[in-house]
Amino acid sequence: KVRVRFAPSPTGPLHIGGVRTALYNYLFAKQHGGDFILRIEDTDSQRFVPGAEDYIIEALTWLGLKFDEGTHIGGEYGPYRQSDRKEIYKKYVDQLLEKGAAYIAFDTPEELEQKRQEIENFQYDASTRGQMRNSLTLPKEEVQSLIDNSTNYVVRFKIEPNEDVVVNDLIRGKVTINSSELDDKVLYKSADNLPTYHLANIVDDHLMEITHVIRGEEWLPSAPLHVLLYRAFGWADTMPQFAHLSLLLKPDGKGKLSKRDGDRLGFPVFPLEWKDPKSEDISSGYRESGYLPEAVINFLALLGWNPGNDQELMSMDELIHAFSIEKCSRSGAKFDFEKGKWFNHQYIQSASNEEIARIFEKQLVKEGIHSEPAFVEKVVGLVKERVSLLPELWGQSSFFFVAPVSYDEKTVKKRWKEETPAQLTELIGVLSDISDFSSENQEAIVKKWIEDKEYHLGNIMNAFRLAVVGESKGPHMFDITAAIGKDETLKRLETAIS
Ligand code: GLU
Repeated sequence: KVRVRFAPSPTGPLHIGGVRTALYNYLFAKQHGGDFILRIEDTDSQRFVPGAEDYIIEALTWLGLKFDEGTHIGGEYGPYRQSDRKEIYKKYVDQLLEKGAAYIAFDTPEELEQKRQEIENFQYDASTRGQMRNSLTLPKEEVQSLIDNSTNYVVRFKIEPNEDVVVNDLIRGKVTINSSELDDKVLYKSADNLPTYHLANIVDDHLMEITHVIRGEEWLPSAPLHVLLYRAFGWADTMPQFAHLSLLLKPDGKGKLSKRDGDRLGFPVFPLEWKDPKSEDISSGYRESGYLPEAVINFLALLGWNPGNDQELMSMDELIHAFSIEKCSRSGAKFDFEKGKWFNHQYIQSASNEEIARIFEKQLVKEGIHSEPAFVEKVVGLVKERVSLLPELWGQSSFFFVAPVSYDEKTVKKRWKEETPAQLTELIGVLSDISDFSSENQEAIVKKWIEDKEYHLGNIMNAFRLAVVGESKGPHMFDITAAIGKDETLKRLETAIS
């Protein structure tokens, strides 16, 4: 059975690239009827940020990525938070030590720094470990007494040199690296009795029976080390398959999309708004900026993968059906933010007015407006085609809820003629007599009146709009007046000419 995991470190808000990694894992799992697991990799206590785990769960829940197992829901392979699995790792570190696949090293940070000064491009590996203070160079008794005296030590992986290590990547094919290029990675630290990422990651993927590791390209350089670890444990037969996803690039394609790019370039790079617990700085999020989760999913799915035809609008089910790891691109995907807006516009159009109205109502309340649900739905139906981000709804429709308090000066200059007040007074009379105030009926009657009087259609309609809306914008004029009703329309006309 396919089992994949999304394994973020809670070091801050989830970056949009991380969301895409989670999405691809989810699509792959669901396509194969498999399990999608959330594992929190928090063994680096220095980089732990409070609130990050909850943020990650809230963000993925908002986007509709449902986990089958995880810190928040449990499961048969738990616990799913690495800091809750401390005891498990020690045993596996000891296994490697017993096999001679790892060793204990006592070098202090100062000693390591000195070596770096002495040797150019110093790397702790087969060529240098003989000069260092570790269990391979020190007498057994000394090693024991150092440990007994609680001297801090680390456990390092003993990598044999000069071996070509092959990683079979589902996206990149065979990736070969010579083991001499790798350093003897630290697997465990006695100071906090915690494993490092590499050890915990391999042990957990094995114990949780993960079948496919789908993660960002930044982990490709670690993959050979991971392959060697699987071998050292004797788990090579059940090693998961790897797929390393290409990076998301800045919109201009120059370099990796970073956490700072978003607010600098004017778009969110986080799914939800995030307030940094230390600096209290706020970074914008897709949800708060007015995106529908379905639009974000569709947009992200196509950054680095495509279905092989030109279909762009795809529901989650369609994505699950069409997704394929092999078709993921090897080169980075430009983060085309305008395309994201386009997707959102499309999803707003296809969402029901009711769904959008319920979101819009929250915004209306902030503006001090409490309207009938049916009225809000009607307004949404009239203006949504003008909107790409949900907060734009208010700017496009405020005049449905409040009468203009001022009139746009430029428009007044251009549209308000000498004869306008008299004509609008007449129009008030015409509208007063209409009993069926539907858009079509009003239009027919008003147009006939203009024709009969041989008035200028454009002048009248522009002045009419200015009186009702306050400027020259908005949907079809008679749709507006039909929505706000006869009394309100007449009131606004009277105010304008008074
Ligand atoms: N904890 C790693 C991260 O934050 C997980 C990498 C992996 O998926 O192996 O990205």
